[in-house]
Amino acid sequence: MNASEQLAELGRDFHRRGWALGTSGNFSTVIERDPLRIAITASSLDKSRLSAEHILEIDGHGKVLPPTHGTPSAETLLHLAIVRTVGAGAVLHTHSVWSTILSDYYIGQGGFFIEGYEMLKGLEGVRTHDHREWLPIIENSQDMEALSAETHLMLEADSNIHGFLIRRHGLYTWGKDLSEAARHVEILEFLLESVGRRHMMEPQY
Ligand SMILES: [Zn+2]
Repeated sequence: MNASEQLAELGRDFHRRGWALGTSGNFSTVIERDPLRIAITASSLDKSRLSAEHILEIDGHGKVLPPTHGTPSAETLLHLAIVRTVGAGAVLHTHSVWSTILSDYYIGQGGFFIEGYEMLKGLEGVRTHDHREWLPIIENSQDMEALSAETHLMLEADSNIHGFLIRRHGLYTWGKDLSEAARHVEILEFLLESVGRRHMMEPQY
């Protein structure tokens, strides 16, 4: 399977699992580093019907490269900021219910720790459940230049994180390649749901 087919299959899977309903979410993977060439989902596509022809190739400035054509995801600049700042090989963005709720609940403290869960070991470099994972939250905006600049600064300040949330919007995570990034989505979505559901059982927790 080539990069476009892989991204399309992953998008349909994420839709089925409730992480990218409707046209939400966007996915990218690096094809070449120098010069930078990235495969990314086109804008405003229903993820339930995503196919390889909906995946565009862009350069390091977000310009669409032939033979592909169309409008890349509105959040392309964020993908580029993450690829550049942490050297990610793939960037995945989901809009799950739990990322939406928790990103609102914890906005006042700028993020929250996830700790003590066995599933944390699914995050790259984490060897034990006895780990504190900081998940930062940034305010939502439709100004993608401002949002990508903020993302760049956040990632420069803390290179240990595996993802971040945008308030009332969703999750961004990445990996050295598409399979690692997809695993991070699974792990983080599991952890977010666990934290959220646990909270509902015992509000003081
Ligand atoms: Zn989004």
